[in-house]
Amino acid sequence: MRSFDYARADSPEAAVHDAGDGAKFIAGGTNLLDLMKLQIETPAKLVDISRLDLGAIEEMEDGSLRIGALVPNSDLAADARVIARYPVLSRALLAGASGQLRNKATTAGNLLQRTRCYYFYDPAVPCNKRAPGSGCSAIGGFNRIHAVLGVSEQCIATHPGDMPVAMRALDATIITLKRDGDARRIGIDELYRLPGDTPEIETILEPGELITHVELPPAPKGVQAYRKVRDRASYAFALVSVAAIVAVEGGTISSAHLAFGGLAPLPWRDPAVEAALVGRPPSTAAFEAAAAALLAEAKGQGANDFKIPLARRTLIAVLRDVTGDAA
Ligand code: SF4
Repeated sequence: MRSFDYARADSPEAAVHDAGDGAKFIAGGTNLLDLMKLQIETPAKLVDISRLDLGAIEEMEDGSLRIGALVPNSDLAADARVIARYPVLSRALLAGASGQLRNKATTAGNLLQRTRCYYFYDPAVPCNKRAPGSGCSAIGGFNRIHAVLGVSEQCIATHPGDMPVAMRALDATIITLKRDGDARRIGIDELYRLPGDTPEIETILEPGELITHVELPPAPKGVQAYRKVRDRASYAFALVSVAAIVAVEGGTISSAHLAFGGLAPLPWRDPAVEAALVGRPPSTAAFEAAAAALLAEAKGQGANDFKIPLARRTLIAVLRDVTGDAA
């Protein structure tokens, strides 16, 4: 590990003030410390935000739930309001990592965790995300866990999160504090960038911009579910995951919020999938149409070709569950 400066912030304002160029914020450190040990992340300075007063979950007047950036994943999953109103989020959190990691990992850190592409973690091989311009070892290499949607010729890595997939289905808003002292609100649909020609830039956050809270609007009507398909029952990243909130009224699907993990470089959501469902009775034909919309542009890389039929089957199974096997 390379040497670095260290500062412990006592307020969000002090944290962004301390975060000069090349600085990183650290709280749980469950991903960052691994990356630093491998010298994939080499921050000039760590700004320790773990003592900030950002650990509460608060009710807002409009019915939203405001989650502090430092709320541990395990506390968020166990919060009675989250279990009652956002069960898709609680289930997604409990599907992630292990008990020890969920105790340590924070809400903001979970949003910003980096891909688990094995080549990204191996400094001996080319990787455009780690060393821009060096090439992508996964294209033409072993790419079983890689993305089939939203990829570029520079990078085919997936976003590894579960919690962010549920938050995407729930239309979460990310609240930040910038270095100039301005707060801003970012829809989770705007937070992440596709890799394009710059896979090393993963979000629209500016250098030194601190996530302080995440807000969940009142949950949409409907039955909620999170299903994660993975290689083993615990402590594994998603091959495919589906976060679903679907309402059926009068025998017709009245609303659908669907987000996907394991398929793309960011928590994936496609309005065409939801449009294929809304206004139709729950039926195999409607579910097949949604899966076709999701996967219309999907492209396998060889070893990950199986994700395309797996995503279709997983989505259809989840839709059957949340509509009460109406099909
Ligand atoms: Fe690097 Fe992305 Fe290619 Fe993985 S998929 S080797 S992260 S450029």
